[in-house]
Amino acid sequence: MDYDVIIIGSGPAGATAAMYLGNALGRERVLLVDKAGFPRDKICGDAQGRKAANIMRELGIEEGYRQLPGHPVYGIKLSSPNGTEVDVDITTRDKPAPGFCHRRIIFDKYLHDCAQGSATFKVMTVTDLIIEDGFVKGIKGKDAEGEKEFRAPIVLAADGANSIVAKKFGINQNPPEHFIVGTRQYYMGVTGLTDRIEIHLVKSLLPGYFWIFPLEDGMANVGLGMIVKDMNDKKVNLKAAQMKEIAENPLFKERFANATALEDIKGWNLPLASHHRKCYGNGFLLLGDAASLIDPLSGEGVGTAMISGRHAAKTALEALKKGDFSEKSLKIYDENLWEEIGTEIEANYRLQKLGKRFPFLIDKLIGKAKKDEKFRKRIEGMLPYTGGRQEMGKDSFVEELQQMEE
Ligand SMILES: Cc1cc2nc3c(=O)[nH]c(=O)nc-3n(C[C@H](O)[C@H](O)[C@H](O)COP(=O)(O)OP(=O)(O)OC[C@H]3O[C@@H](n4cnc5c(N)ncnc54)[C@H](O)[C@@H]3O)c2cc1C
Repeated sequence: MDYDVIIIGSGPAGATAAMYLGNALGRERVLLVDKAGFPRDKICGDAQGRKAANIMRELGIEEGYRQLPGHPVYGIKLSSPNGTEVDVDITTRDKPAPGFCHRRIIFDKYLHDCAQGSATFKVMTVTDLIIEDGFVKGIKGKDAEGEKEFRAPIVLAADGANSIVAKKFGINQNPPEHFIVGTRQYYMGVTGLTDRIEIHLVKSLLPGYFWIFPLEDGMANVGLGMIVKDMNDKKVNLKAAQMKEIAENPLFKERFANATALEDIKGWNLPLASHHRKCYGNGFLLLGDAASLIDPLSGEGVGTAMISGRHAAKTALEALKKGDFSEKSLKIYDENLWEEIGTEIEANYRLQKLGKRFPFLIDKLIGKAKKDEKFRKRIEGMLPYTGGRQEMGKDSFVEELQQMEE
């Protein structure tokens, strides 16, 4: 075999797996390929929370990450469908920032550079897999020199939302209620930016949202996301919806009056973890977006992609030790991964469905948080990107909300 492990894709999932594997096996035994050289852009909201930071701490690369050009995030500005705004902080300003917004062109390059210390990297577009006796045994693809093949007993597919590996095994399609389409447009000169990310639950997009995330040097990441099923049912054109919100919504129109768009509106897919995709098979594992691991409420996918990278590396190392790359043996990856992320995903999916059915509950929640400091403090630990959302999706919390007085 050419390598012990091949990783397709050097985004957050693949780069993380490469670091864990390279540290254990040595750089020359791990092949990391990506169709792009780095830096490369990735359409995203650019927010990273505690899940991502925890992995980077474990890998010893958190300090460098905190120095990257970007914007610290201490809290969230939320607005409800009726236009009420509330600021909720995750922690105080004397503590290290719990989150950041780093443009992915910068963040992914950092992770990729760290991964290059642990794995052999090649720019190569993977076009197919080598499959023998029902087992994945390597990759086929093209680079600047022509067609190439590389072999390894296990292949980790971290090739994103349009994963060719997931497609090859017919597991790339999510039902439309488990897929979001999101947009992104960088801006300069939006007024009123703070060290909070802004999530605006505007009525026309529920349970999707419009966001404004602060970036370095006065830039902002502006976008919106909507579940594909709702988008189709309501016949929403996302680009037009984004332009309409910016031009007409009383919460934003003044803030954008003198702002400049730095690019056209771009769009990309978010496969949601509310659809538990099978993420293993004979000789392969799916990671990150290829495994459909994005939070169905917040759209956060970087953290879970990195968590999947850690679990995939662990499973691959155990498989190498045992010499067993069968689907039966690799199933443990799915079990361990979902044990870690499953509870929060389930809670957030319940909340997502609830917000869609009962938008007035969101008005109630945000209205109460604005008026009642004690309540606001209580929900601080349940916010997106904090990694502690379970309580909010519990039936008891929802009942409490329903019984709340206006
Ligand atoms: C509009 C939008 C907003 C979002 N906002 C946020 C946010 O604010 N915070 C957050 O946490 N998440 C957000 N997400 C989700 C997040 O972007 C993804 O979950 C995350 O990028 C997944 O990482 P990944 O490593 O699995 O895949 P990717 O980051 O997509 O990386 C996949 C890599 O595989 C490579 N590749 C693909 N195909 C091939 C091939 N055939 N051969 C070789 N290489 C290949 C690509 O070049 C790429 O480098 C957002 C997504 C969208 C679309």
